[in-house]
Amino acid sequence: MTPTRRTRYAPSPTGYLHLGHVAHMLYVWGAARAFGAEVIVRMEDHDRGRCRPEFEAAILEDMDWLGFVPANVLERRSPYRQSDCEDRYEAALERLKRQAHVYRCSCSRKQIAARVLPSADGELPYDGLCRNLESTKGGIRIELGGGAEFFLDGLLGEQSQDPSVQCGDLLLRDRSSQWTYQFAVTVDDLIQDVDLVVRGEDLLPSTGRQIRLGKLLGREQAALFVHHPLIRDDDGGKLSKKEASAPIRETRRKGVPPQQVLGSAAQRVGLTLGGAPQEREALLELTAKRLLETCTWSPDYSASNLTPSINKTPRTTKAT
Ligand SMILES: [Zn+2]
Repeated sequence: MTPTRRTRYAPSPTGYLHLGHVAHMLYVWGAARAFGAEVIVRMEDHDRGRCRPEFEAAILEDMDWLGFVPANVLERRSPYRQSDCEDRYEAALERLKRQAHVYRCSCSRKQIAARVLPSADGELPYDGLCRNLESTKGGIRIELGGGAEFFLDGLLGEQSQDPSVQCGDLLLRDRSSQWTYQFAVTVDDLIQDVDLVVRGEDLLPSTGRQIRLGKLLGREQAALFVHHPLIRDDDGGKLSKKEASAPIRETRRKGVPPQQVLGSAAQRVGLTLGGAPQEREALLELTAKRLLETCTWSPDYSASNLTPSINKTPRTTKAT
């Protein structure tokens, strides 16, 4: 089947792959299978201080070991990298300056924290202090305007997010001249024609602001979004930091086969019970089937056709 959509697997090369990344791979490749998408790999290395080439190499090697090597890595012999896109980000920033109020902000996080109360999900909504100061130093923010963005998440159903309440004027570039995650991924998804975004539920609050920013950048149609559960321990609780961050390559070194890592990731994310070793192919079939059964939109759904045709009630994936 020729893919009609494009999704991405976008790790940050700031460390080694762990079980949460493997569970995420199952969802990304499972969703690609369910909704007819190709997968591209993008290294989100916008944070130049923390990213290292050896982590990128290790991530690709671990992915290969698990059986996940997408076409763009094979064809180009490298993933897409944010650090290769500097000129595109500059061009996007220029476009935003023509579309909205973009200004310098020299406030530190600490200063903002002293002025505003954190929101329910722990964010510090920027209060706009520097909006009219015409400073020439500091980070760069954009006024996104008020009002909510609505979208239908594939697993979580109807969502409404107002960026002006959640985060206030969005930071595009920080005080050390690094592009922010929110800005870089929005530009990347637009330029790389990504129209299906599959990611963990922890990133759900980022979606409304990315949709809004995408519109300001001239994106005609928002991507479809699927936010999947995060990995849990045996009792359904949050994994300890040590357990959650244990590198896959250490498990590999002990001689554990990839099927066991895949089986464990599938169990931790609620796709299977028991955590028995599983073949990649069987798990992708299972994930695709589960997504098609529980998705709030039909496989041919597009964000411009806002008529969810099946399963209007939001559901989450359940283990069999
Ligand atoms: Zn400021």
